[in-house]
Amino acid sequence: MDFNLTQEQVQIREEIRKVCREFPDSYWREVDRKKDYPDAFVRKLTELGWLAAPIPEEYGGSGLGITEASIILEEINRSGGSATACHAQMYTMGTLLRHGSADQKMRYLPKIARGELRLQAFAVTEPNAGSESTRIQTAAVRRGDKYVINGEKIFISRVLESDLMLLLARTTPYDQVEDKTRGLSVFIVDLREAREKIEVKPLEIMINHHTNSVFFDGLEVPAENLIGEEGMGFRYIIDGWNAERILVAAEAIGDGRWFIERAAKYASERVVFGRPIGANQGIQFPIAQAHARIEAADLVRFQAATKFDRKERCGAEANMAKFLASEASWEAANACLTTHGGYGFAAEYDVERKFRETRLLTVAPVSNNLVLAYLGQHVLGMPKSY
Ligand SMILES: Cc1cc2nc3c(=O)[nH]c(=O)nc-3n(C[C@H](O)[C@H](O)[C@H](O)COP(=O)(O)OP(=O)(O)OC[C@H]3O[C@@H](n4cnc5c(N)ncnc54)[C@H](O)[C@@H]3O)c2cc1C
Repeated sequence: MDFNLTQEQVQIREEIRKVCREFPDSYWREVDRKKDYPDAFVRKLTELGWLAAPIPEEYGGSGLGITEASIILEEINRSGGSATACHAQMYTMGTLLRHGSADQKMRYLPKIARGELRLQAFAVTEPNAGSESTRIQTAAVRRGDKYVINGEKIFISRVLESDLMLLLARTTPYDQVEDKTRGLSVFIVDLREAREKIEVKPLEIMINHHTNSVFFDGLEVPAENLIGEEGMGFRYIIDGWNAERILVAAEAIGDGRWFIERAAKYASERVVFGRPIGANQGIQFPIAQAHARIEAADLVRFQAATKFDRKERCGAEANMAKFLASEASWEAANACLTTHGGYGFAAEYDVERKFRETRLLTVAPVSNNLVLAYLGQHVLGMPKSY
């Protein structure tokens, strides 16, 4: 058992820290205030090749594993930034890498690796389906060498900042399939060609996340953009879920460490009643407890990532990592806010921004109830609860 990172992994951490130092709190605060996309940051990471980390070397990427990808995202959040602006490229890549045709990979991956194309949008959620993804109603109907797409999605992030979007749609209606996970298909939508047939309505939400309602009205997608086999899309998406959970866990761990560092520093410096507030157990212990929980979650995250990279089964570990890390980060966020008293609510301290941002990780891309349902049913063998 070796709990140490490799030299290469330590170096990746250092390199990302170096890049992040160029984008201090004031940068993220301003981006948040204006609800801007952190374009300069994403460009910089792309130029340096970090967003192509999971792309194999033969397509111009670095061929790194999920462990390394998770370190990159963790460090972005730990620096005070938000990796959500660019994490989707790492999540979605697996679907294209594992299930895309040789032609699709050649067509897209080198351009993504060079930063000429952005694959940052991933469209699954619908208003009438919610967490029950097999109930989605967006339909893709084959007409000759095209699929015609009609329907509606909600909470689809970065559609306006992406060139490409992965889309899950029904190719066989729900009531015509015996197995409800069949009849769903994944498409690569080239958003640059699709703008006239899709309507994108930005949603006003609690955080700066560039998420939208998207309406498809007769959008034509070439049949060659179908990923893998028609009707098997849900399986391909599920394949990517473990990677997604591990990466989200890493972002939560980055957030958690940021909260704990800030809280411990402020608690040691702020003097009230003649002594630092951190000398009081009511302030000190919640921070120490959150620290312990973040460190425990981190071990499960690296266990999950290691198994994933070894191509071992890791559903239990990936789900536990996502659950433990997002809950621990939320606990750290609360401890940090309490420690800062009224200043925790002042934008200039950045605590309120990170507080809002980290709360998302308990809900999206999958809510923690659904994670517990997975553990209850698939790991502990209890009856299906949904
Ligand atoms: C900022 C943001 C960005 C997002 N970006 C994307 C994106 O890019 N692409 C995309 O496809 N989606 C995206 N989503 C959607 C996200 O994945 C969903 O919001 C999430 O999966 C939950 O679905 P829902 O909101 O429909 O909640 P619902 O499914 O309506 O659930 C509501 C609550 O009920 C609970 N619940 C439901 N069923 C059960 C059950 N059987 N047992 C116990 N509890 C249950 C859920 O856990 C949740 O707490 C985003 C969401 C947000 C907020």
